[in-house]
Amino acid sequence: MAKITDLSKSRYCKGVQCPKILWLEHYKPEEKADILPESVLENGNRVGDLARRYFGDYSLVEFSFDKNVMTAQTALFIASGSENVAEASFLTEDGLYCAVDILRKNEDGWDIVEVKSSTEVSDIYIEDMAFQYYVLTKCGVNVKRVYNMHINNKYVRRGELDLKGLFRLEDYTVKVIEKQSAVAENIESIRSYISVDDEPARDIDVYCEKPYECAFKGYCGRHLPEHSIFDLAGIQARTAYKRYHSGIISFEDVLANAKELKLSDKHRRQIEFTLNDLPDEVNAEKIKAFLDTLTYPVYHLDFETYQQAIPEFDGVSPYQQIPFQYSLHIEQEDGSLEHREFLAKEGTDPRRALAEQLVEDIPVRVCSLAFNMSFEKTVIKNLAELFPDLSERLLDIRENMHDLMIPFKDHDYYSKAMMGSYSIKYVLPALYPDDPELDYHNLDGVHNGSEASDAFAAMAQHSPEEIAVIRQNLLKYCGLDTYAMVKVLRKLKEAAGE
Ligand code: SF4
Repeated sequence: MAKITDLSKSRYCKGVQCPKILWLEHYKPEEKADILPESVLENGNRVGDLARRYFGDYSLVEFSFDKNVMTAQTALFIASGSENVAEASFLTEDGLYCAVDILRKNEDGWDIVEVKSSTEVSDIYIEDMAFQYYVLTKCGVNVKRVYNMHINNKYVRRGELDLKGLFRLEDYTVKVIEKQSAVAENIESIRSYISVDDEPARDIDVYCEKPYECAFKGYCGRHLPEHSIFDLAGIQARTAYKRYHSGIISFEDVLANAKELKLSDKHRRQIEFTLNDLPDEVNAEKIKAFLDTLTYPVYHLDFETYQQAIPEFDGVSPYQQIPFQYSLHIEQEDGSLEHREFLAKEGTDPRRALAEQLVEDIPVRVCSLAFNMSFEKTVIKNLAELFPDLSERLLDIRENMHDLMIPFKDHDYYSKAMMGSYSIKYVLPALYPDDPELDYHNLDGVHNGSEASDAFAAMAQHSPEEIAVIRQNLLKYCGLDTYAMVKVLRKLKEAAGE
C-alpha cells in the first residue's frame, strides 16, 4: 500500500516545484484541472521508445502497478548480464522509487540515461536526474555517469532515421553529484510538508507557472478578485506575482498605483473599459485607411500546421512546423464568397501537394489576408525555400499579404470583451457575441489549432471510417477560421461606414 511519503521521480519533481501539489493531489484531487495536451504525452512515449534503440539491444522492464515486480525484473536482467536495461526500477526501503529510462553498463558500474522529448535540458530535468542518482546509490548501485538524452533540433532527416544524429547525449554527472545533499534535504522537507492532515498554507507565486503550469492554479487562486493583475493582457508572470505580493491585486489597485507602475496605455484602456463597462471604441478614419489598402477580390487565408518530435519525412527537422491544411475564402467586392480548401492525405508529406494547390488557388498579384500574418508568411517562406520551382509564385502571395489583426492591434477597434488582447480568440466573440455560427464550441472534435494538429498527426492510425469523420472535422474547423475573417472584415467595413 503506497504511503503519502513515498516519492517517485515525478512526485519528487512536483514536490521541488511546490510541495502543496502533492498535498492537494492526495487530499483534494477533485480540484485538479486537466491541462496537459495529448500531443505532449504522445511525443514523450514515441521518443522514449526510439531512444531505447540508441545503444543497440536492450532488456525492457515491463510496467506493473506493483513496484516490487519491476525491481525484481530489473535485478534479474542485471544478474543475467544485460548491458542496457530500459525502465530499470529501484525502490529504497523508505519508499523512494525511480525507473531509469536506460540503465547502461559501464565497466564495473552503470550509467543513468534520462530521455526527454524536448530540445534542451531545463533545471527540473537536472533535479530529476539528481533524484535518480540518489535512489540508485542508496540501493547500492555503482553509478558512473549520468546523461541526459534529448532531441537535437538541428537534425534534418535524410533517408533512414539516424538515431545518433536525432538525439543529443549530454553528461550531467558533475552537476548531479553536486546536488546530492540538496536532494536529501528536499526529500525531508517535502515529506514533512505533505504529512500533515490539515491543509498547509501556501501563497501563489511564480512556481505556480514554472517549470510547469500547475493544475491547481484555479483552486489556489480562488481568493483573487474577478479582475486581477493576472488578467492584464500580456503581463509577464514574474511581474504579475511581484505586484501581487506587494498588495497590487485588483484592477482598482493597479489604477490606484498607475503612476508608480508606469501603467501602459494598453493596460489602462483594458482596466477602464472593464471597470466602467464602456462601449466599443472605434476610430473610423483609421479603419477606413486600413480597408483602403485592400484590393478585391480578397483571399482570406489560414494554414494549419503540426510538428513531429521524430521527423517522418525527408528534409524535416524535429518540431519543424509542417503545413498540412489551408482554408481560403475568396471574397468579391459585392460580398459574394467562394470557398477553396486543402487537406493533405494522412501519413504523407503534405508540403508539395499543399504548395502546388496553393499557387493554383491564389493567382499572382492579388490581395491575400491573414489574421496575424507573420505565421502564414513564415509557412509560405519555408515552402518557397523548399520548392524553388514554385518559389516565385509563393513569394508573390507572401508579398501581397495584409494583416487583418492590425486595426485591433492598433486599438482602432476596441471592445471591453477583447480584454486587452487582439488575438482572434478574443476579437471574434467580442465582435459577434453569442453567434452560434461563429462559436468554435459548436464544432465536432476539433475546436482549436492544437486539436487540429493532434488530430492530423494521429489520423493515419485510425480506421477509414474514423478518418472520414476526422477529415470532416478538420475541414469544418479550418473553414470556420477563414469564414470568421470574412465576418471580422465585414464588421470593420460597418465601423468605417462602408
Ligand atoms: S497552484 Fe501554486 S501554490 Fe497551489 S499547489 Fe500549485 S504551485 Fe502550489
